[in-house]
Amino acid sequence: MASTASSPSALNPASVPAAAEAAQPVRQAPSARTRIRRMPARGSYDTAELHAILDDAYLCHVAFADEAGTHCIPTACWREGDHLYIHGSNGSRMLKVAAAGTQVCVTVTHLDGLVLARSAFHHSMNYRSAVIYGVFETVEEAHKAAALDAFVEHIAPGRSHEVRRGDRNELGATTVLRLALDESVTKCRRGGPKDDEADMAVPAWAGVLPMALRGGAPQPDGEQATLPAYVGRWDGTVVPAGRASPDGTA
Ligand SMILES: Cc1cc2nc3c(=O)[nH]c(=O)nc-3n(C[C@H](O)[C@H](O)[C@H](O)COP(=O)(O)OP(=O)(O)OC[C@H]3O[C@@H](n4cnc5c(N)ncnc54)[C@H](O)[C@@H]3O)c2cc1C
Repeated sequence: MASTASSPSALNPASVPAAAEAAQPVRQAPSARTRIRRMPARGSYDTAELHAILDDAYLCHVAFADEAGTHCIPTACWREGDHLYIHGSNGSRMLKVAAAGTQVCVTVTHLDGLVLARSAFHHSMNYRSAVIYGVFETVEEAHKAAALDAFVEHIAPGRSHEVRRGDRNELGATTVLRLALDESVTKCRRGGPKDDEADMAVPAWAGVLPMALRGGAPQPDGEQATLPAYVGRWDGTVVPAGRASPDGTA
């Protein structure tokens, strides 16, 4: 089921009272480096929360180090089961380094709102974010086509049955990697400003300016015979990629 502006999901910052944040249980961190020290009540090791954040993402950032230094590269991503997938040209430096067993740190971030407090100090942002550590593994040739189908479905549900699938040369030129979600953590801020009692009389507007990734008007490439549901409903739609329903309802 999709999350839209008219049907806020459990992840919608507007649907979770600020007071509930402090009461959220903090589960066991899978490692020392995923233990949230600052604002631990905002952290979670809940699989459903992690999956929801990843499924709302088109994009992740992959951080890794090589002989030239430390890099952080944006790239498309999708989730299947307990893995996050990325893909690209066999010639990509990022993919070659990642496929070689290099430790990576992958992040996904959704900005859900600007939190305007009565004091400058207490301004904040509402967000949902995930950090995953580990080592990518290469998806075998036999599973590559299915993995890329899943990527197309993530972009536009139903589309993998409409497009020409990759041929042998295209698949051969493409690297697909996957990262286990074992060592991961999420952190979210929801709710309104947390002003000091002494500032409550300050006459500045206070509250949340919500934000969301929204689709614009589709731009057809030439004459189009058909208008798939995922195109027809794109304009103005809040865009939670992975949680769109199979008929393209967002
Ligand atoms: C929204 C989005 C989606 C993308 N999806 C994919 C994908 O699915 N697969 C894929 O292979 N690539 C994707 N890219 C491109 C990706 O960011 C890299 O440019 C590409 O993977 C090549 O990486 P590389 O390490 O081989 O690049 P190189 O050319 O070796 O990088 C050399 C240097 O160029 C700079 N650089 C590289 N990429 C960028 C960038 N995007 N922005 C600014 N500086 C950069 C960095 O300093 C980097 O160290 C995407 C980029 C964006 C923004």
